[in-house]
Amino acid sequence: MAAPAGPALLALPGGTAAVTWRRSARARRISLRIDATRGAVVVTLPPRAGTAAGLALLEKEAAWVAARLARLPRPVAFVDGAQVPLADEGHRIRHQPGGRGGAWLEAGEIVVGGEPCFLSRRVTDFLRGEARRRLSPLAAEMAAAASVRVARLTVKDTKSRWGSCSASGRLAFSWRLVMAPLFVQRYVVAHEVAHLRHLNHGPRFWALVESLVADRDRARAWLAAHGPRLLRIGSPPGGRDDEWTP
Ligand SMILES: [Zn+2]
Repeated sequence: MAAPAGPALLALPGGTAAVTWRRSARARRISLRIDATRGAVVVTLPPRAGTAAGLALLEKEAAWVAARLARLPRPVAFVDGAQVPLADEGHRIRHQPGGRGGAWLEAGEIVVGGEPCFLSRRVTDFLRGEARRRLSPLAAEMAAAASVRVARLTVKDTKSRWGSCSASGRLAFSWRLVMAPLFVQRYVVAHEVAHLRHLNHGPRFWALVESLVADRDRARAWLAAHGPRLLRIGSPPGGRDDEWTP
């Protein structure tokens, strides 16, 4: 079903909001929701509703939309001078014009060479690489402790899940996890590795997780409180996947 062609921007008391229009065959009425990772309001129209009716609802609910958007964590773009956490520690992005391409760590900074137009892409690639580099040994360590085998570890950019696993032994993690504190990284890896033994959230699954990491509740609380902030760093989630095989 083609997306309705409504206006992409909405003027609100506090500024301008991005609007995403959707058409749903199952929707009974027009609805609004907030896409927290993109900082946009999503308007869903039932089959026969027009964009004018959607706009009328947006205008009626403008105060609610503005309040919800104002409460979102502030987006952090990958630009020269921005602070990016690595294992919860701030690292400044420093653009080195004319330098070699790529990005690397140097004295607590993320140094990015080459043309400024590639800076954001290079920082993202660098963080994806760091995620693979740091999560792979954690997965290997936990898999050994749990006597299971990791067939493949994939780094993705998912909106709603920090990690996932398949019955065939494949693990996937959001690269954004590399920005979280180490105890959180360890918990998410332990959780997915434990699923290689127990494909459920039963008592034996949790007993295995607890034998692998000590602070499961603290890690879950950290993700609930700070996870949305990590999704607002760099480009919004939903980019290409990239894979790594141990
Ligand atoms: Zn699970």
